[in-house]
This record gives sequence, C-alpha cells and structure tokens, in this order.
Amino acid sequence: GAAMAKSKFEYVRDFEADDTCLAHCWVVVRLDGRNFHRFAEKHNFTKPNDSRALHLMTKCAQTVMEELEDIVIAYGQSDEYSFVFKRKSNWFKRRASKFMTHVVSQFASSYVFYWRDYFEDQPLRYPPGFDGRVVVYPSNQTLKDYLSWRQADCHINNLYNTVFWALVQQSGLTPIQAQERLQVDEVMTKEVRLPAEMEGKKMVVTRTRTKAVPLHCDIIGDAFWKEHPEILD
Ligand code: ATP
Ligand code: ATP
Ligand code: MG
Ligand code: MG
Ligand code: MG
Ligand code: MG
Repeated sequence: GAAMAKSKFEYVRDFEADDTCLAHCWVVVRLDGRNFHRFAEKHNFTKPNDSRALHLMTKCAQTVMEELEDIVIAYGQSDEYSFVFKRKSNWFKRRASKFMTHVVSQFASSYVFYWRDYFEDQPLRYPPGFDGRVVVYPSNQTLKDYLSWRQADCHINNLYNTVFWALVQQSGLTPIQAQERLQVDEVMTKEVRLPAEMEGKKMVVTRTRTKAVPLHCDIIGDAFWKEHPEILD
C-alpha cells in the first residue's frame, strides 16, 4: 500500500522494459513444442497424426482458456496453439510478457498433468517444453488472415505428411526415398488449389462463457465467422 516503505534498491524496477501491447488490437500468443520431432519419436506417436497427442493439446488449450482471462478463441495444429485475447482486454495492463508466460506455463503444466488421461500406458519419458511469442494484429481482417495462415499451414503439412507416410508405410520406400519423391511432386502441389473443406487434423476452440468447446472446422472461408460473429465483437 501507500504506507509501505521503499528500500534504496527500489530503483532497479526502472530497468524493466515496457512491453505494453498496443491498445484496441488483438493480442495473439502462439506456443510451439520444443523439438517435438524428437518428442514424437521418443513417445511412439503414430504417423502422420497421433490423435492422442492432438486431443491432449486441445485439452491443454481448454484448460488455458478456462483458467486465464479474456481469451476469445484458440486454434491449434501439430505441436502448436494460438490464443487470441479480446481487443479490449486489460489483463495485466496488456503486458506482453504476462500474456505469454501465463499461457505457456499453464499449457506446459497441463500437458504433463493430463498426459496419462490420453497416453495411458505410454509413460512420459522427459519434461516437454514450449516456446511462445506475442503478435499484435490491428484489425479483424489481419486477425482472420493470421488464423487462415495457420490453418493453411496445417493443410500443406498434412498433404505432405499423409503422402510421405503412405509412401513409407504402404509402398515400402525408405524415408529418404519418400522425401526425394515428394521434392519433385512439390512443384505440382503449389499449383493445386486447396479445397475449402478438407479432412485432417485441425482444431478450433471457441469460448462460450466459461466452457471452451473443441470444433474441427474450416476457418479460412467466411462461413465460420458468419456463424460466430460474437468472437470478433
Ligand atoms: P522446434 O523446437 O523448432 O519447434 P520441432 O521438432 O518441434 O522443432 P516443428 O516444426 O514444431 O519442429 O514440428 C513439430 C513436429 O512434431 C512435427 O514435424 C511432427 O514430427 C511432430 N508432431 C507433433 N504433433 C504430432 C502428432 N500429433 N502426431 C505425429 N507427430 C507429431
Ligand atoms: P500473483 O499471481 O499476482 O503472483 P500470488 O498470490 O502468487 O499472486 P505473490 O506476490 O507472488 O502473490 O506471493 C506469493 C505468495 O505465495 C506469498 O504471499 C505466500 O502466500 C505464498 N507462498 C509462496 N511460496 C511459499 C512458501 N514457500 N511457503 C509459504 N507460502 C508461500
Ligand atoms: Mg518450429
Ligand atoms: Mg515444435
Ligand atoms: Mg510446430
Ligand atoms: Mg505469484
């Protein structure tokens, strides 16, 4: 309080950087598993998409959304998840380091805490880690384009991984041979337009008061945003 005495050391607080996120902008925190290529191998993830791992990621995202303030939507794929804070959020005075560290630490502890619920007899062999970053988007359009960028990345990786693992598991190619085969084909895939609706592993979590609901749907097209205008309110 105001009556609290200050020590002569108090001035060191002035060395802290101001990392306030710009007012009225969407604040996005994206986290990503550290060296999950190795983590997936060590924990026998099924290829190309281990559904236990994907559902654990979504459980962690739900926990983050229910424990922390002001998150309106989260989108995840592979070992990453993005969390969007509402434009008017004043949580921790909009300090980027607070947003990021709370999201990432809550997510990482949840990953360990809920591991057994998804992997049952497969033991957790070492403590996983996640990196995090904060990006601020000034308009609804740039926010939607950000989320579309992540889902398009999901589609592209899924196309590649699905074919890669079919070549290895079903056609008996070595991983090197499969990679060489796909390097040639990659030129072609660039010309192919992605269908609006695609099967694959993509997850969206939206917030309804205190419950976070997992959805698996397209967010690149307009339909999702028309059905859920409240998210960008
Ligand atoms: P970095 O530390 O730079 O992020 P990384 O090894 O985690 O390195 P990413 O580009 O993040 O590299 O890729 C994550 C990798 O984790 C994928 O390439 C894949 O091998 C593996 N992975 C993540 N989730 C799954 C899953 N559900 N099923 C199978 N493999 C997965
Ligand atoms: P915030 O989320 O703002 O950090 P907080 O409750 O964690 O809120 P702090 O100022 O960080 O507030 O204080 C940590 C509190 O945790 C202490 O006031 C004390 O009550 C408790 N605490 C932490 N470590 C111990 C410990 N080893 N033994 C007893 N109490 C502890
Ligand atoms: Mg990476
Ligand atoms: Mg990673
Ligand atoms: Mg990744
Ligand atoms: Mg504390």
